Amino acid sequence: MVSTPAIVAREPKDIGHPNWQIEDVSVSEPGDNEILVEMIASGVCHTDLVLSSLPPGYMGIEYPKIVGHEGAGYVKQTGQSVHSVSVGDPVLLSFHSCGSCSQCDDDHPAYCDTFARENYIGRQGSVTTTNTGDKPWARFFGQSSFARCSVVDESCVVNAKGLLQSPEELKLFAPLGCGFQTGMGAVANIANAGAKDVVVVLGLGSVGMAAIMTAAIRGCKAIVGVDRLDDRLALAKELGATHTLNTAGSDMDLAEAVRALVPAGASLVVDTTGVPKLLEGGLEALRQRGKLVMIGVPPPGFELSVKATEHMNMGRSVMGCIEGDCIPKEAIPEMIRWYRDGRFPFDRLITYFEAHRFDQALKQLHDGSAVKAVLLWDSRE
Ligand SMILES: [Zn+2]
Ligand SMILES: [Zn+2]
Repeated sequence: MVSTPAIVAREPKDIGHPNWQIEDVSVSEPGDNEILVEMIASGVCHTDLVLSSLPPGYMGIEYPKIVGHEGAGYVKQTGQSVHSVSVGDPVLLSFHSCGSCSQCDDDHPAYCDTFARENYIGRQGSVTTTNTGDKPWARFFGQSSFARCSVVDESCVVNAKGLLQSPEELKLFAPLGCGFQTGMGAVANIANAGAKDVVVVLGLGSVGMAAIMTAAIRGCKAIVGVDRLDDRLALAKELGATHTLNTAGSDMDLAEAVRALVPAGASLVVDTTGVPKLLEGGLEALRQRGKLVMIGVPPPGFELSVKATEHMNMGRSVMGCIEGDCIPKEAIPEMIRWYRDGRFPFDRLITYFEAHRFDQALKQLHDGSAVKAVLLWDSRE
């Protein structure tokens, strides 16, 4: 048993707003395929907020729980069957996959048969709250990184021993395991974008910014960033956007606005917003053989309709996207190589917060003044 502080998500008092608090918990020994990780830093991803602010019972969600699905730390203890890391190794954390279903076998672990259950719900039993004796749901995305110490599944772990130039880099690389990888993979894996592509990115959070940077790396001939915040649009230009559109305060027709910039329309639209009007506009903005890649979560029950004959004649595609269809053990080192070459400056998007100041992180994510919040566990209270 290890005693550790964790951000425990209690049942939301106000649906749509997470009810997080720092609590002391005890964590049991790692099982056969598990690793006890002492976290240095945890990235906050939008899914942490969504899946801890829904009502209990919805999608199988229960409270209390410990979320967090981007992280970095050091291996403290390993289960008997663990071979990829040893005690003392630095590790970066990503999503869980089973390694044996047909999708995992085919090198598409983001579509693993067990993905929803192991990542969105997790498991109960290994963590106990000190004050109340509750057993929070843990192993969220196989890791529950919002704790100084957490038991994680080996499938989530990327050994960072050969990736770091200094220990300081661990906290910088902590958020690579979900949001950045998703935006990168949408452009590089799902769309396989290249020099002839005209790319439109809807929403410029960490996912959208990663898509912009990757489109620039791929040499795409036009890259249009779309957001409601001027600061984000300005930053997107510095990261590789050739054009920007601000959708705030106007009843903009997105397809028309895109065609005013690139008359033939877009060959790739990456949506990170889930906003129905933008999804519909994004689809309309596509040229022949264009692809709409859906990352943002639309409202429950929303159906995206297509004009079937036009869709067929234009050869358009609408594609779902989880985790950029990435294999984390390959995607994370690749992003680090690009970062070292100066082509993927994701460090410019990070704001650090002490873990106990998570409320400030949430506030700045909400008002847009932070693109990617990273919580630090290294200063002991
Ligand atoms: Zn699988
Ligand atoms: Zn995420």
